[in-house]
Amino acid sequence: MHKSTPRRAQESHRPKVVVVGGGFGGVRVAKALARTDVEVTLVDRTNHHLFQPLLYQVATGILPPGLIAPALRRVVRKERNTRTVLAEVHDIDLERKVVRAATPTAQEIELPYDYLVVAGGATHAYFGHQQWSQFAPGMKTIEDARTLRSHILGAYELAELATDDTERAAYLTFVVVGAGPTGVEIAGQLAELARHVLPEDYRSIDTRRAKIVLLDAGPSVLPPFAPKLQRYTRRRLEAMGVEVRLNTAATDTDAESIAVRSSAGQERIVARTKIWAAGVQASPLAAMLAKATGTPTDRAGRLAVGPDCSLPGADGVYAIGDMVTTADRLPGVAQVAMQQGTYVGKRIADRVKGDTSTPTPFRYVDKGSMATIGARQAVAQVRGVTITGYLAYLLWRYVHVMFLVGWGNRLGTLYDWLRSLRHARNRGHRLIGLTGAQAVEEMPQAA
Ligand SMILES: Cc1cc2nc3c(=O)[nH]c(=O)nc-3n(C[C@H](O)[C@H](O)[C@H](O)COP(=O)(O)OP(=O)(O)OC[C@H]3O[C@@H](n4cnc5c(N)ncnc54)[C@H](O)[C@@H]3O)c2cc1C
Repeated sequence: MHKSTPRRAQESHRPKVVVVGGGFGGVRVAKALARTDVEVTLVDRTNHHLFQPLLYQVATGILPPGLIAPALRRVVRKERNTRTVLAEVHDIDLERKVVRAATPTAQEIELPYDYLVVAGGATHAYFGHQQWSQFAPGMKTIEDARTLRSHILGAYELAELATDDTERAAYLTFVVVGAGPTGVEIAGQLAELARHVLPEDYRSIDTRRAKIVLLDAGPSVLPPFAPKLQRYTRRRLEAMGVEVRLNTAATDTDAESIAVRSSAGQERIVARTKIWAAGVQASPLAAMLAKATGTPTDRAGRLAVGPDCSLPGADGVYAIGDMVTTADRLPGVAQVAMQQGTYVGKRIADRVKGDTSTPTPFRYVDKGSMATIGARQAVAQVRGVTITGYLAYLLWRYVHVMFLVGWGNRLGTLYDWLRSLRHARNRGHRLIGLTGAQAVEEMPQAA
């Protein structure tokens, strides 16, 4: 296979910084290095930066994919010392200080570095049952969200065509596994769809009779939130018609159903659409670095980085975001990745300028957590203060719009949100094709 080193990298004599991953963490590294005399290469296997917190809105037809997935090149266009490379990293040679990656045409490239930041993120964990992913897909990429949108809307189309009550009920049952923020948000939106958006559009089925089940092996919804907010969220979900089943673990799933275990025993819920929103598994890049450096990982495969996010025994190598764990066990949220990205970018800038002192450890500033429950309802906790209902919802909207990249995307999102509030039945992004509906029937092949 042909190997090449991109031409500009060979010519430059400036220190080379390679950043693997153009997510929340990686982009912040590039931004923090914008005014430093270095050459930054931002390599990602997709050409876009993804705003994962709004994926569920794509999956339920509120937003179009483009608004939450701007081109990575566009995101770093003002960082003149940063270039982006579309390639999948599969090897890191710490001795030669080279990152190896494959381009979309399977061309092998080598990216030499003086400093390396790995920010490959994480995905859902199926707790040793990876085969479940084909029947209960998760939501991590923009493709995942589009596939889910096809499954969800396709299920209603097939329910409309069904001639048998049992079959119709299977299409109209939606099970969400995992009652963290993502699970709660998707379950809430599924309820909105069924009760308020779709009813007038169907002739043979009453979409309000759709069954939405949110299950979790733990004892509460939204585990990281204050108990008061957990109780509020559960009450709101139940008022919206979501069946919340706690202390209930998924034990098996196939195309037609999901098996669960609770104190009441084993049960099989017949449901064509299952959505996985549980567990965390670090990017395989974490295992690669752990093996190369002897750095320990936790049960989710996250690298135990040092207090300055560096990798012990690999000078100039840092790892940040969802794929790492720190002594203070920070949550896997965007704020942590962003703050670590800025911190590491500044640290590299200091080193390039000759600073050899021991760095001040990374300190996370918790700016609060929030989750939506459905239209006009959310919970938020900011510095010990808890907020619920419409006020929390407005706060959630403000924060999420402001963190989107680009004013065009912010305005587009605001427009779609206003439209979905004002004309609940006119949710704008429900486009699926015949194959979308077929995917519900043929879930194993489609995944
Ligand atoms: C559905 C969902 C909802 C969420 N909601 C919230 C929320 O409301 N609030 C919140 O704070 N957090 C939320 N999160 C978590 C938040 O998105 C993550 O904490 C954050 O994205 C972590 O940033 P990161 O840079 O570590 O990884 P990511 O943002 O995941 O970026 C990783 C990047 O690395 C790239 N990559 C991976 N492997 C390779 C490779 N081998 N070669 C090249 N590129 C590679 C990926 O393509 C990706 O672009 C949510 C996550 C999900 C999945």
